[in-house]
Amino acid sequence: MTRKPIVAIDGPAGSGKGTIARMLADHFGFAYLDTGALYRIAAHANVNFDEITNLSVHDLLKIAADTPEDVLKSDIVGCKASDIAKLPHIREVMTQLQREFVANPGNEFGGSILDGRDIGTVVIPNADCKIFITADPEVRAKRRWNFLKITNPLLTYETIYQSIVARDEQDQSRKIAPLTCDESYVLLDTSADTIDMSLAKAVKIVRVALSE
Ligand code: C5P
Repeated sequence: MTRKPIVAIDGPAGSGKGTIARMLADHFGFAYLDTGALYRIAAHANVNFDEITNLSVHDLLKIAADTPEDVLKSDIVGCKASDIAKLPHIREVMTQLQREFVANPGNEFGGSILDGRDIGTVVIPNADCKIFITADPEVRAKRRWNFLKITNPLLTYETIYQSIVARDEQDQSRKIAPLTCDESYVLLDTSADTIDMSLAKAVKIVRVALSE
């Protein structure tokens, strides 16, 4: 039996990868996994190693869904997630959970789409389509700031810019599963595009890859 198609999307914070991945999943009728949410919830809820190994990916997603979005998506939790994401035992468990998701996306889905930092390099290196979504750091910081200041009006653009640059550096330089792009990915730079423009480009990339 041939397996259902898998789309791997990687890229830095604020690149638009989460929004595009979610919309792509809707477009193609695929299951979607925001793997950053798994790291965020593990960091925020201080889920310990023993606990994580006893949880399924759906248990963790349930905890994430029950956590207010402004907390889960906050800059502080993003930085904490990046800190724990360096730990080998955490990455090992998370990788297992993500592969579990791909193995059982649900009968109603035609395939799966995962977004994160190491999906196409470590989690599913043989994904049918790999897209690296990026944008200039200033553009990414502006997007994150516009989103975060709704619930935290005291946040400044400069704070978010510094935080994004520091998180990029930490995610790209860690020893295990660093954020990186190679020739197996199609690069999608969203700096100058609207979401709709980026989505149209991403749909085309997936269509081409899945028809090959
Ligand atoms: O994508 P998001 O910003 O929600 O991810 C939060 C942090 O979780 C990232 O900065 C990264 O350190 C970590 N992460 C990871 N591998 C993934 C997804 C997220 O290391 N596949």
